[in-house]
Amino acid sequence: MSPPRPGDERAERLLADHLAAFSGASAPVPVLDIAEDLLGLRVHVRPGLDVSGMLVPSRRVVYLNADEPPARRRFTLAHELGHWVVHCAGASVPPRILCRSDETTGAADAREREANVFAATLLMPRAGLTAAVAEGATPDDLARAYDVSGVAMAWRLYNLGLGPEPSRG
Ligand SMILES: [Zn+2]
Repeated sequence: MSPPRPGDERAERLLADHLAAFSGASAPVPVLDIAEDLLGLRVHVRPGLDVSGMLVPSRRVVYLNADEPPARRRFTLAHELGHWVVHCAGASVPPRILCRSDETTGAADAREREANVFAATLLMPRAGLTAAVAEGATPDDLARAYDVSGVAMAWRLYNLGLGPEPSRG
């Protein structure tokens, strides 16, 4: 058993800021509102992209792949917000373009890993999951409630010490 890995506190702060400013439901996390209203990014969904998502920091625009399922698009958007908050805000020379694709997901690229941890933390808040699990919610219930894939939820629960290690199938 590895110790719990609660995630990225910048993502927790971002969600808290959004709830303080706009209130609203806590699940699913309103990631599109956070992108547009809180961070001032524009989000466009486009068919035919050859990546899952793309952030163009200089234009404050995120493109999402219309050909992918909504739950994956939500995770991709949260991933790009991770790039924005962690890798662009405050950087003197922000990266020109940041993507999410299958090739980089889970790969050894530290920046991609950081963006994925940020996304998981934002979309699946620790406090909400901890409370729901204590009340008997199943991983499937939680994946539906938070509008994320079952695989993403299983890994998040594991990293929080709230579930078994998912099989790597
Ligand atoms: Zn990325």
